[in-house]
Amino acid sequence: MTSQRTRDRMVARLEELGIRDTRVLSVMRATPRHLFVEEALASRAYEDTALPIGYGQTISQPYIVARMTELVLQAGRPQRVLEIGTGSGYQAAVLAQVVPQVYTVERIVALAERARRLLLEVGFGNIRFRTSDGSWGWSEEAPFDAIVMTAAPDEIPQSLLDQLVPEGRLIGPVGSEGAQQLMVVRRENRSYVRQVVEPVSFVPLRRGLDA
Ligand code: SAH
Repeated sequence: MTSQRTRDRMVARLEELGIRDTRVLSVMRATPRHLFVEEALASRAYEDTALPIGYGQTISQPYIVARMTELVLQAGRPQRVLEIGTGSGYQAAVLAQVVPQVYTVERIVALAERARRLLLEVGFGNIRFRTSDGSWGWSEEAPFDAIVMTAAPDEIPQSLLDQLVPEGRLIGPVGSEGAQQLMVVRRENRSYVRQVVEPVSFVPLRRGLDA
């Protein structure tokens, strides 16, 4: 159930859905998603669906993880990427295999700790973790070549856009439940160019720290 063959089937499905970037496909093929879900759900880890990870949160659907990673890689040669919403750590693990340095922020302390432990155990040395409200970004480490939001705000926080390099891109869902769109926002000198990618369904971005 957690074999290479089930992973290969998942990747075949991602290709059918239009994922083309071979770097993304090979990383999705190699990443053990079953380690990022609860043991009872491990047999479903390679279905193309979101799954619960506790605390009312979910691990994103593989297609969405692949799509957002593909969009990150379209931003030239991103070196440093900030993720908002560590959750299970799966998206961070995928990113960490295609860019040199990943920063990830989670507001639920228990999830942040679990992901940190797992990702260190699996051997990722290029991910830095922070437990806080990610709406503020990570100013000490800014600017970032790309920012990936894995929870949906009604409006993209300006503080996040301010932490992009010129030509940097923010990728993430925007809107309330049932009406979200995946967006790419590109920073151009003093303005931001917005592009709608496709409808999506993410958990909401919440404010404050959940200890
Ligand atoms: N990238 C995750 C997806 C987890 S779901 C994965 O691959 O598993 C989105 C996550 O965003 C949840 O864990 C939720 O707690 C977190 N989140 C919501 N609002 C946040 C905020 N303001 N700052 C940081 N994390 C937030």
